[in-house]
Amino acid sequence: MIERNKKLQDSKHQQCRFCGEYLDANVGLCPVCKQSTALDAVVDLRRLPNCPVCKIPIYPARINTHSVYHCEECEGTAISKEVMMKLQPIESKKLIRSQLAKEHIRPPYFEPRDKPPFLICPYCRKKMKETKFTNMIVDICEKCGAVWFDAGKEKHINEILGSYKMKRLKESERRR
Ligand SMILES: [Zn+2]
Ligand SMILES: [Zn+2]
Ligand SMILES: [Zn+2]
Repeated sequence: MIERNKKLQDSKHQQCRFCGEYLDANVGLCPVCKQSTALDAVVDLRRLPNCPVCKIPIYPARINTHSVYHCEECEGTAISKEVMMKLQPIESKKLIRSQLAKEHIRPPYFEPRDKPPFLICPYCRKKMKETKFTNMIVDICEKCGAVWFDAGKEKHINEILGSYKMKRLKESERRR
């Protein structure tokens, strides 16, 4: 928390109004939520990735200090490989929704749907694959390693972190 306050007081940094990401002052487009950092910018939902289940925009959120995405309709959570590798199993995790999510309005055309046979990764739009860990099945992107947690599963993220990281490390060794 002290770290963050320090950043804020520094005129070289700004905070994205839409997702809360801390950015350099000269950045015009937030890399997390793809929204303009201009003071008069209004949100453009088309710039957000789509929920792989609901096919509507998902919002930036945070797990502790890390950027993730969360769907306000199906309550699923997407986490990039980079963030998964940084998360430590010993810390408790809290999902913090962004301002954008709190202002979510269900699109008029929206109807809740069943999970499709395979998911499209919200980060890179490639196919995700169901992967079984000891107690839980999650979807993992075959290309970028991002993980999709169905509603409530993100609460058990600590249980899969160890095996997830092991798997990724093995894969990167194989590629060498
Ligand atoms: Zn942002
Ligand atoms: Zn959804
Ligand atoms: Zn991906």
